[in-house]
Amino acid sequence: MTIRTTEGRKRLYDSILDTVGNTPAVRVNRVSPGHVTVYVKFEAFNPAGSIKDRLALNIIEAAEREGRLKPGQTVVEATSGNTGIGLAMVCAAKGYPLVVTMADSFSVERRKLMRFLGAKVVLTPRALKGFGMYTKAKELAEQNGWFLASQFETKDNADIHEATTAREILADFEGERLDYWVTGYGTGGTVSGVARRLRQERPETKIVLTEPANAAIVSSGHVNARNESHQPTGSHPDFEPHPIQGWTPDFIPWVLQEAIDGSYYDELVPIPGPEGIAWSRRLAREEGIFTGISGGATFAVAMRLAETAPEGSVMLVMLPDTGERYLSTPLFEGVEEDMTEEERAISRSTPSAQME
Ligand code: PMP
Repeated sequence: MTIRTTEGRKRLYDSILDTVGNTPAVRVNRVSPGHVTVYVKFEAFNPAGSIKDRLALNIIEAAEREGRLKPGQTVVEATSGNTGIGLAMVCAAKGYPLVVTMADSFSVERRKLMRFLGAKVVLTPRALKGFGMYTKAKELAEQNGWFLASQFETKDNADIHEATTAREILADFEGERLDYWVTGYGTGGTVSGVARRLRQERPETKIVLTEPANAAIVSSGHVNARNESHQPTGSHPDFEPHPIQGWTPDFIPWVLQEAIDGSYYDELVPIPGPEGIAWSRRLAREEGIFTGISGGATFAVAMRLAETAPEGSVMLVMLPDTGERYLSTPLFEGVEEDMTEEERAISRSTPSAQME
């Protein structure tokens, strides 16, 4: 095998924002059973590290195009992190101030990342759940005349997944088999947008949606009430806090409702959070693929499907973000700061530079 070479992208970029999207679909080679082929669409390749860079960019640019966002106007949004980090990148690059509201239960590194990118982060009590941070953002927008990004209601969310994520999948799998596409949901933008195109152009592909087993609000069949702006008016009764950050808020978002009403998925598979954590760890250790808990949970569902999938099946699994976003969460529990006994033994096996 000769040394690998690279050719460059043969273009120069005018802005960091032009590097959003076009993430790679990568085959896993060691953890999946031999009778199936599994690819992951690895959204950590986006410039701010997650799939939400796509939506953040389109929310701002669609509002600019339509005159809904004025130069220098403050942007405000309730977000568990990735949307906030994506918006912080976009607002920094375009010069808009950003205020993010966020329950204090989400990981500390998310807050710090947003602040590092120049955003203000207003914490809300975890007891008030997603609905609390959401109400706070709405109130701040109304009182101050700020632009509310409205990721859970805006059509600019699913539209960008139809225009980018779906097109990338269709292009990358052109002429190739694709039997299953697996995704979770937070706002539902990914599933609604991608499914619009997959249903039309790859009708043979089974679309599999997943949600946390202890917050299986779509499986429950109960739809929460919404006001005339399609915003939820309260928490869903079947919601419970779950460890899969970025997934399932405590209400069924309007953006997701399109996928439910349009029968955009063939199966809905609840997955326990700990299984997602276990698969995120395995992807890191056995494939070198470093993704967060939602990526692990989506992959866990694919591995369950693989148990009964026919020989030769091809799957594509969404991995929404990077695992680096979870250093202070249960994902990293058991990862030591100090040397383990095994590491001490390695150190003692040669004479130099031993620790006390
Ligand atoms: N995983 C993570 C880590 C996320 O932040 C999000 C977005 N909230 C999702 C999955 C779900 O994506 P979507 O909002 O498009 O349904």
